[in-house]
Amino acid sequence: MTSQRLPVAVIGAGPVGLAAAAHLVSRGETPIVLEAGEQVGATVRQWGHVRVFSPWRYNIDGVAAAMLEKAGWTMPDPEHLPTGQELVEQYLEPLAALPEIRPHVRLRTRVIGVSRRGYDKLRTQGRETAPFVVRVLTPAGEEEIVARAVIDASGTYESPNPLGADGTPARGESGIRDRVFYGIPDVLGVHCSRYAGRRVAVIGSGHSALNTLLNLAELTAIEPETEITWIVRRPPPARVFGGGAADALPARGALGQQARQLLDRGAVALVVGRIAAVTRAARGLTILDEAGSTLAVVDELVAVTGFRPDLGPLRELRLDLDPIMEAPRALAPLIDPNVHSCGTVPPHGAEELAQPEPGFYVVGMKSYGRAPTFLMVTGYEQVRSIACALTGDVEGARRVELTLPESGVCSTQPLGSSASHPNTPESATACCGGPAPAHVDACCAHDAEAKATGEVGCGCGPSGVEVLAAPAATGYAGSAGEAAPTGGRERLPLRLVPSNTLREGGGASRCCN
Ligand SMILES: Cc1cc2nc3c(=O)[nH]c(=O)nc-3n(C[C@H](O)[C@H](O)[C@H](O)COP(=O)(O)OP(=O)(O)OC[C@H]3O[C@@H](n4cnc5c(N)ncnc54)[C@H](O)[C@@H]3O)c2cc1C
Repeated sequence: MTSQRLPVAVIGAGPVGLAAAAHLVSRGETPIVLEAGEQVGATVRQWGHVRVFSPWRYNIDGVAAAMLEKAGWTMPDPEHLPTGQELVEQYLEPLAALPEIRPHVRLRTRVIGVSRRGYDKLRTQGRETAPFVVRVLTPAGEEEIVARAVIDASGTYESPNPLGADGTPARGESGIRDRVFYGIPDVLGVHCSRYAGRRVAVIGSGHSALNTLLNLAELTAIEPETEITWIVRRPPPARVFGGGAADALPARGALGQQARQLLDRGAVALVVGRIAAVTRAARGLTILDEAGSTLAVVDELVAVTGFRPDLGPLRELRLDLDPIMEAPRALAPLIDPNVHSCGTVPPHGAEELAQPEPGFYVVGMKSYGRAPTFLMVTGYEQVRSIACALTGDVEGARRVELTLPESGVCSTQPLGSSASHPNTPESATACCGGPAPAHVDACCAHDAEAKATGEVGCGCGPSGVEVLAAPAATGYAGSAGEAAPTGGRERLPLRLVPSNTLREGGGASRCCN
């Protein structure tokens, strides 16, 4: 079989992996979707009880929807906010069951390594034309799949960040794992008995932490003995509570406002400190800070401290990842909470996601590395563009076909603040939509978009931007406000977002206000 006739391996049958399969099939390609779980959407099922804050219209890939509709599927109410479970049952399962997709999905197939056939990482000559070898672990044992391209859509949910404030596990963490829930427990459902009447500490300050706090607060109505402690590394800045009514996803805005009310009415005890150690004692788990002082004594810990990509299986590939975000280098400045924290990221595709290893892409949640702000719709645009690139449609790969919902929060470092990247131009930190393309005279991506359509600009800039002292991400489970110490970030050229990609009502009135 020549390299061109080999399949395209897609790692993971989550929303983005399945969308990749739909796009590839629609372009006459043969994908092979390798899913570790027993069922498609394996990680979404783990947070199936959580209601997402993006309505259906943002959660369904266009090409997948067309294929489904052809088979008689009816699109759910576009304005309804599904739970993770509904997302699986009403979208991912029907999609994976389509006759065009089903033969290409292999369940219980975990990818444990990817390399080039006959090439270790050191060997260069002829490397680019060598097919990929994907090593998988199945119930029947190990197997190798040869592919002409590989799209890694394996997400990050399986690699939660540990409790330790310095990024490594807190001392003693491995010994108390039975009392730590990494992720979002179903506090009002299957995990109710684990938390009812207990002292529970929630660690983290992304959307998932807020969600967990709200659910625990609801639990106190049923079981008033339940005590809730929220441990954060520093006092939550306004951004942690989101953009409120300014958020284009109202449920996301409301989440932050409700969490703020919990604090205001004293339903949650806020503890500010950096976790260094956890010990188990007769009276409960003692959480200690770096000075050895007790932050809290609790029965249960919920670690919603964000996720990190598992790069282990990719070790034999030549990757160009940002050293801070562990995301493709061109994408990183757009999503790094150190420099820019709008939930809105300019649409991007094959060009920005390309790696030194031609034919290999990291997409979906994993493409955001350690950044917590990923939206499914961003992933759908990524795989649309990559499917074009893999089938020789250069124009299609470059075109941007996405309108992203604004987060309603836009912050930046005070110019010259010690937290900002020394090598990041002011324009990159100045406003929303991410930095402007390198070759464009604009303060931000939105400004560039506005200028591309002949407008004077987005009407923002440093003076028009809400400047917050402690910028933070607005992610699902990230440690918002915990910006990593930054090294310099080189600005890489990004393609100009064409005028037809302007966000709804784009132009001056849409930016940063
Ligand atoms: C609680 C929560 C709420 C969210 N809410 C929203 C929201 O409102 N709107 C929104 O747009 N986004 C939301 N997201 C973010 C994101 O869109 C979702 O996490 C989405 O599921 C990401 O899709 P994905 O396909 O990239 O990864 P995943 O859904 O994580 O899918 C990855 C798949 O790969 C499989 N896998 C992992 N490792 C391997 C391996 N080695 N080999 C084979 N298979 C593997 C997994 O089993 C899984 O099925 C939310 C995320 C979380 C956690």
